[in-house]
Amino acid sequence: MNIILFGPPGAGKGTQGDKIVKNFNLYKVSTGDLLREEIKKNINLGNKIKSIIDKGLLVSDNIINDLLIKIFSDKKLYNRLIFDGYPRNLEQARNLDTCLKKYKQKISCVLCLNVEKKLILKRILGRQTCINCGLIFNEYFMPATSKNHSCDPKFLNKRSDDNEKTVTNRFETYLNKTLPILDFYKEQNLLHHINGMLEIDQIFDEIRAIIASLET
Ligand code: ADP
Repeated sequence: MNIILFGPPGAGKGTQGDKIVKNFNLYKVSTGDLLREEIKKNINLGNKIKSIIDKGLLVSDNIINDLLIKIFSDKKLYNRLIFDGYPRNLEQARNLDTCLKKYKQKISCVLCLNVEKKLILKRILGRQTCINCGLIFNEYFMPATSKNHSCDPKFLNKRSDDNEKTVTNRFETYLNKTLPILDFYKEQNLLHHINGMLEIDQIFDEIRAIIASLET
């Protein structure tokens, strides 16, 4: 099955995506992560991408399509994809449909994580990612300790776009460009709304039940 995780920045798509991957043996495709990899690898294109991300805008569809081509055509990943942060506008949603059709696949469900803006801000401004193991923590809600994290604290990193000004722009971009996609998936009966304001494990229980019901 292929799943889309949908929701505003800071809704917990990355956290829930990692849990789904572990429990259902899927492969997570985070266009945000792919772009951050590109920034590290490729100086010229990377600088261009970073300046767009730091403004809270969307990177061009061409760049995103180039990053995804390998994934769609990879036989090992056939029907095992979970998309986090993609598609981000209607054009990308249509392109995703075309690519999946080409490789004889489809979207099984769209899980929309709903979270109030006030909580989003707290989640994003407190977010820390370990650049060594990839685990995500939060200074306010779930600080990294010796019990839940075995890497050196020096690896804990704040994203350059996780500041108040960029977050406000990211949220605007979400409202204007990304949110309109929901109707596209609602019309196809693929949309499931999830309360993203609960505890991480409670949210995952909701998600697990939905995915399990699709498998039968
Ligand atoms: P968040 O979940 O907080 O939005 P991401 O890591 O998914 O964070 O994305 C960070 C930034 O990367 C976005 O604000 C945007 O600039 C860029 N980006 C990520 N995915 C896409 C995409 N599919 N299309 C265009 N830009 C993207």
